[in-house]
Amino acid sequence: MKPDEHFFNRRILIVEDERRMARFIRLNLEHDGFQVIEAASGQEAIRQLRDALPDLILLDVMLPDIDGFEVLQMIREVSDVPVIMLTAKGEEDDRVRGLELGADDYVTKPFSPRELVSRVRAVLRRSEALKASTRGLIEVDDRLKIDFERRQVWVDGKLVSLRPTEYRLLYHLVQNAGLVLTHDQILVKVWGYEYRDEPHYVRLYVNYLRKKLEKDPSNPQYILTERGVGYRFVDFRKQKAAEESR
Ligand code: CA
Repeated sequence: MKPDEHFFNRRILIVEDERRMARFIRLNLEHDGFQVIEAASGQEAIRQLRDALPDLILLDVMLPDIDGFEVLQMIREVSDVPVIMLTAKGEEDDRVRGLELGADDYVTKPFSPRELVSRVRAVLRRSEALKASTRGLIEVDDRLKIDFERRQVWVDGKLVSLRPTEYRLLYHLVQNAGLVLTHDQILVKVWGYEYRDEPHYVRLYVNYLRKKLEKDPSNPQYILTERGVGYRFVDFRKQKAAEESR
């Protein structure tokens, strides 16, 4: 199969404890130009999701710590990253259950490399069409421009350097532009479950981001405070559409 230029370097997270199976999948995906990371347990999968921001997750149902369905539920609480479940032959209930819990597709073991790669591409194509709006250069306004693919942020034409945590926080805020994210949602998405009782982290990092991005950090125009609830990134797309129709 010819590597698909369109998906070159997309990052796939394989969640599978059987090393031979993980290796088999890795080799086939790498052969097709995908970048591959692995997790051998549910806990590790959640950590990798947060730290490496994969473009798609291949999630095995049978895992040593938390089973694949529970991992899927945890993923869905914090992310809409595409997930393909790896189910065992004959376990038809597993397929339905996975889809009901928010999986995008499933592949039944044993599968051929060709089948796997074509499913991965189909799901990526679908989700990237949906998400076209956060791909490429995002022009929030004339001042602030963000490219999540290259991990670059510009303010007034100058490249701004963000720490990984600041970057992740910005990513989730912009992805949900126009929507309020609660302190808890932000903590879980950016820091992980174990930080759920540390709301001051959010305040601290929102302040860091404001200092780097806002013209006047004390009167923010991008990261808005929703008193007592959380934060909302300005609905810049709606603003732009309104300006254009004026
Ligand atoms: Ca397994």
